[in-house]
Amino acid sequence: MTERDYYEILGVGKSASADEIKSAYRKMAMQYHPDRNPDDPSAEGKFKEAAEAYEVLSDQNKRARYDQYGHAGMRGGQDYHQYSNINDIFSAFGDIFGQSIFGDMFGQQQRGGRKRSQREPGADLRVRMPLSLEDIATGVERTIKLRHWKACGTCNGSGAKEGSGFSTCTVCEGSGEIRQVSRSVFGQFINIAPCTTCGGTGEILKDRCDTCEGEGRVEGETTVKVTIPAGVHTGNYLTVTGKGHAGRRGGESGDAIVVIEQTEHEIFERDEDDVYMDVVVDFPTAALGGEVNVQTLFGEASLKIEPGTQPGAVLRMKGKGIPHLNARGSGDQLVRFNVHVPTKLSSKEKSVLKDLATSDHFKPKDQRVESHFFDKIKEAFS
Ligand code: ZN
Repeated sequence: MTERDYYEILGVGKSASADEIKSAYRKMAMQYHPDRNPDDPSAEGKFKEAAEAYEVLSDQNKRARYDQYGHAGMRGGQDYHQYSNINDIFSAFGDIFGQSIFGDMFGQQQRGGRKRSQREPGADLRVRMPLSLEDIATGVERTIKLRHWKACGTCNGSGAKEGSGFSTCTVCEGSGEIRQVSRSVFGQFINIAPCTTCGGTGEILKDRCDTCEGEGRVEGETTVKVTIPAGVHTGNYLTVTGKGHAGRRGGESGDAIVVIEQTEHEIFERDEDDVYMDVVVDFPTAALGGEVNVQTLFGEASLKIEPGTQPGAVLRMKGKGIPHLNARGSGDQLVRFNVHVPTKLSSKEKSVLKDLATSDHFKPKDQRVESHFFDKIKEAFS
């Protein structure tokens, strides 16, 4: 998975216009197209990386989300897409590649499909898994249903009708490749293109399986159990090997990639592995001290209030936060303390309070302003 900055990949600035991004991508795509770099195995990776960057930066919404959240924003979202093969890139960017320069370069391969290997592996399947903070605090086991391409049971994924088989392709004589000379603005070069007759596999199906029409795979569902450890964050993912899409005609299956999404909580806010919550305490308890019950991610717990606790104080409940994912221990629960001021009073209560108000202890003494208080407010609202 790409973790490099998308702007860096395309070599453009953060403020690049849509046209600049498009032209930078074209340049990269031409430079790294695998056909132009048959001896450089890293070219295909760079080609895909550029396509992924372009997919995000060419879409206003995705780009905005990427600018705000980075790669995490992409992973959490539904439209996050990683290209598993070059065919995907062609279908997604047909509008660009359909232009004249690319037309020459890719020739008929674009239409004929590109099968480099005999059995193209299936694509990965991405699924989102929303989890509450409680789930994250304890870890969970979940059973999920995956909708994906599965190997056809009738033909065992071969695509061939029972009793039938394959014959060697007569066009490419079983090599799966055809050499062709093409001309483009870059000059003339020799293209080794997959044979379009056999789709690059070097063999021809004699009779197609009726169930899958020769694809070797059918749409289906699989149920898998996944175990999520405590302490995960949005954007963390786990891979279920071989549970992605089955490849065509017996090609290896891709992986299922389960991406964690933390859902909003009514009471708690998460900061790394600490959680914050607010508690409102009656005035006598704040003044006299005592104990209150507060909610935690693991059920209710008692919180001790020292006599004279002031509004705004933050009380720490050690170890009541979220367990660290890859380390021992847990975060804390931080409780922001507030005091309830009654809004309705009986005449008796009023007279008691009026009496108390004359007492010296009830008069605020410290009128100093907290240092940099206004700076902090300005910062908070800027
Ligand atoms: Zn079949």
